[in-house]
Amino acid sequence: MLRIAPTFSVATPATLDEALALLARHRGEAALVAGGTDFVPNLKHGLHAPRIVIGLGGIAALRGIEFGPTEVSLGALVGIHELATHPEVAALLPSLSQAAGQIAGPQLRRMGTLGGNVCLDTRCVYINQSESWRSALGYCLKKDGDTCHVTVTGKKCVAAASNDSAPVLISLGAQVDLVGPNGLRSLPLEEFYVNDGARNTVLAEDEILTRVRVPRPGATRRMAFEKLRLRGAIDFPLLNLALAYDLDSAGVLSRPELVVGAIAARPRRVRPLPEGLLDAALVDAIAQKAFDAVRPLTNINADVDWRREMVPVLVRRAFAASRSSPEVS
Ligand SMILES: Cc1cc2nc3c(=O)[nH]c(=O)nc-3n(C[C@H](O)[C@H](O)[C@H](O)COP(=O)(O)OP(=O)(O)OC[C@H]3O[C@@H](n4cnc5c(N)ncnc54)[C@H](O)[C@@H]3O)c2cc1C
Ligand code: SF4
Repeated sequence: MLRIAPTFSVATPATLDEALALLARHRGEAALVAGGTDFVPNLKHGLHAPRIVIGLGGIAALRGIEFGPTEVSLGALVGIHELATHPEVAALLPSLSQAAGQIAGPQLRRMGTLGGNVCLDTRCVYINQSESWRSALGYCLKKDGDTCHVTVTGKKCVAAASNDSAPVLISLGAQVDLVGPNGLRSLPLEEFYVNDGARNTVLAEDEILTRVRVPRPGATRRMAFEKLRLRGAIDFPLLNLALAYDLDSAGVLSRPELVVGAIAARPRRVRPLPEGLLDAALVDAIAQKAFDAVRPLTNINADVDWRREMVPVLVRRAFAASRSSPEVS
């Protein structure tokens, strides 16, 4: 008999405490699921074999977007479609809205959640395959094997962080709230990710991501998100990039942030970046810095030289988009 997924039981807790108790009781054998748009394909590919799947969808505490005086607090269960179409998010955090609107396709955006996107597993052309495909190649370091087909001699998985929200949220200085048996811990999203594609977050197996908190940007903050993908209607990023900076009334740029994703196990912050009068020369200098910093690998099925050449192109597009977007207020 053909089985397309392992056998497991399903729990649907109504509160965070219930979910945490289930995680503690089934330590090492449980998996969390929100929208399931990445978890289910991975399950079918045999990348996980949990004994119990804990659905987070019924936990009200994980819902809602709250606009506070100093920050915007986004529940882990906020839908990608909701994020992409929320008028206040678009006005205050346009790059986040732009990124959400380019995640997957319309159906997946209605199923997928922000928490699932932030916690998304890394991707690689050698791992997001069926079990028989992977076994024919002798598996790889990330699961069941001892070789990385990308680096060949490397001892660490370099599968790519492919979540479109991650570079944007890092560029905006977001913090994540993680709740576990010892209570709440908050950390900058940049520190949530580590450079190992086998498991690229510091989320412990008994923790749940509850909220993402983004500082309210000042009125002079400009931002944009750009993405390279094969089909504009659905695909994962071959490269993504988030830009944010302050622009004063004299046209002087300061506090620039540029974060590039889909190249390595965690998004890369390009720094230091030059500041000064925002003219073509400054944009060229920042584009060149990004080009120098980014070296795509063969972890994604697209030409590495083309992806690298597209880095400065995306930087220029991001500057153009950020200058035409309305000032935040
Ligand atoms: C065809 C296709 C195209 C796609 N294109 C894109 C794309 O362009 N860009 C992109 O970013 N993504 C893309 N995705 C991936 C996915 O649809 C999105 O990333 C989505 O936002 C994932 O959210 P989810 O709620 O469905 O996550 P799930 O699949 O439910 O979960 C994903 C992971 O996060 C964990 N998780 C979920 N919520 C929590 C939580 N609160 N705390 C701790 N762990 C949690 C799960 O255990 C799982 O490991 C695509 C998927 C498909 C199938
Ligand atoms: S980067 Fe290497 S170890 Fe990681 S999934 Fe790809 S082939 Fe496997």
